Amino acid sequence: MTNRINALRENLANEGYGAFISLAPATNQYLAGFNGTTSAILITPEEALFLCDFRYTEQAQEQVHGYTIREVKGKLGVRLAEAVLERSLTAVGFEPHYVTVDELNTLQATAGKVFKEASETVSALRSRKDEAEIAKVRAASELAEGVLEDLLPELRPGITERELAARIEYEFKMRGASGPSFDTIALFGARSSLPHGQPGDRALQDGDVVLLDFGCRREGYCSDLTRTYAFGRIPGEWFQQIYELTLAAQRQAIEAVRPGVSCRDVDAAARDIISEGGHGRHFGHGLGHGVGIEIHEAPRLNPETTAVLEAGMVITIEPGIYVPGQGGVRIEDLIVVTQEGCNVLTRTQKELRVLSP
Ligand code: ZN
Ligand code: ZN
Repeated sequence: MTNRINALRENLANEGYGAFISLAPATNQYLAGFNGTTSAILITPEEALFLCDFRYTEQAQEQVHGYTIREVKGKLGVRLAEAVLERSLTAVGFEPHYVTVDELNTLQATAGKVFKEASETVSALRSRKDEAEIAKVRAASELAEGVLEDLLPELRPGITERELAARIEYEFKMRGASGPSFDTIALFGARSSLPHGQPGDRALQDGDVVLLDFGCRREGYCSDLTRTYAFGRIPGEWFQQIYELTLAAQRQAIEAVRPGVSCRDVDAAARDIISEGGHGRHFGHGLGHGVGIEIHEAPRLNPETTAVLEAGMVITIEPGIYVPGQGGVRIEDLIVVTQEGCNVLTRTQKELRVLSP
């Protein structure tokens, strides 16, 4: 963890921060290697302090290296603020997307108004993965793909969306994942037009669209994958059309991925193809997102972002076309940005596949 602490210290110094605090599990996993849910860290130019309560002391002693570990009682935020106060720190950076208003009030009540928003200090570091992190995302992705390949031949008419989602998540744990990286999306028929629909009681029928978006978490890292199938037979000409268009857009966007390219341009590479195909209004979400300790993290790929791709980033490319009342298609792969361009981690077939009942 020493490399990460030092990289953070360099960022803090460059941007005029005197120290950094975090109460966020994702940040504390990244900076301290701790995978518990409740902890606090304080990083100053000279010190790295890790605070937790009795429940986590043993775990912290195993997992956390490069920090002074201190077991504390009472409210963690107050103890953290006291540590800030004792050291007379100023311009103490915090991540505004993780700290609640309540937590900030608690911190300020003890240490005063010494806290300063630092939105990108850690997220920028986290967005560029090292080899070990990429290997973990790849392993999580391979695990999820294995589950998909084994379950597809078993699909029979009558299984409900919820049952299929449950089967997928059960297999994750049986194969060594800690669980799904987000709630599994399994949608049949016209319900596939709901980009983030919740699996329900809809039973699978011949001629259905089957849209599956899922991933697992393994060794603290997430995977993310979407495939869309036809069950039994192709639901109609319209489906074939939007499938081919989505696939062409997805491939075009992957072609555009390399260091130095703006995330907005990658988004546009896919969006232009879908718009030219007459379905612009049916692609209402961003093209993709970073994946790592969290399922959605920096960078975001959408028409508004100012983010630029860098080597080591792990992102999804997931265009979709959703025709209300009829059905939808989304195709999502995990991609690593490399010095030369990119590597597609996802291996599962993405040409249109008709599943046999
Ligand atoms: Zn997904
Ligand atoms: Zn995704």
